[in-house]
Amino acid sequence: MERWVEETLHDGFRVRLKADKVLFDSQTDHQQLIIFENEDFGRVMMLDGVVQVSTKDEFVYHEMMAHVPLFAHGKVKTVLVVGGGDGGVLREVLRHPEVERVTLCEIDCSVIDLCREHFPEISGGAFDDARTEVVIADGTKFMAETDDRFDAILVDSTDPIGPGAVLFTKAFYTDCKRALAPGGVLVTQNGLPFLQAGELRDSVGCFRELFNDAYAYMATTPSYFGDAMAYGWASDNLSLRQCAVGEIEWRYASAGAFPTRYWNPQVHVAAFALPNYVQDLVEA
Ligand code: SAM
Repeated sequence: MERWVEETLHDGFRVRLKADKVLFDSQTDHQQLIIFENEDFGRVMMLDGVVQVSTKDEFVYHEMMAHVPLFAHGKVKTVLVVGGGDGGVLREVLRHPEVERVTLCEIDCSVIDLCREHFPEISGGAFDDARTEVVIADGTKFMAETDDRFDAILVDSTDPIGPGAVLFTKAFYTDCKRALAPGGVLVTQNGLPFLQAGELRDSVGCFRELFNDAYAYMATTPSYFGDAMAYGWASDNLSLRQCAVGEIEWRYASAGAFPTRYWNPQVHVAAFALPNYVQDLVEA
């Protein structure tokens, strides 16, 4: 009997993926988690009915969430990843030799455990790196209480449903601002502008009240169905987003020009060139 798994994120738009083999399908302490094989996207994990990661295209999202802020900043030593339980963003952050410490705050330890088991190639040993510190906690609680300061905060969260909803609030962003080191940068997973316009407009609206620079950049991950994805951008250092391609190239070379499959200095700069309908959302 064929099994199809339906994505239920949007009210009027559904996508189904054929599950050739189901590897895990159960409720964790926080969310419904399914992992299955699909002939087009490889191995796929969904949380509460939403695609989170697939082995065929995870490189796009993870490279763009890590390398754009880190190369724009140029001197990142401490990073906080909120969410990110699959380890993909963590893997990419650790490729930067100047990074000294990465804290990953994930609410659901089952996600980490199951991704280490079923997607070892995504974390690629990152959870065992000496620079990695894993904290199992709600990101809002961690952010409100931490005395640490981070050069980059990367919110690799689910969508604003279930446990992820609190990560899209002004209170959380205010605490992110407090936890950023001077000149630091906040990047957020901020959905598909074509289908989740209000989410991006609201997040960047909060950033505009808290930071000197509030914007977004975009990249298309095929398994995030319906549009290119927006990454919210917030910093008090206006120059980060303006960093010229030559400088990004120099920083990339200095970091060892490690191989990437999506991010490159030209894509980095171009990602901030937003279509008008997205500019309208971030400049509202
Ligand atoms: N790349 C994916 C995307 O763009 O939707 C996100 C992947 S990652 C698996 C999302 C992670 O956020 C999940 O592991 C989930 O458990 C975690 N998460 C959700 N709400 C959280 C919260 N309040 N605090 C910390 N982690 C949270």
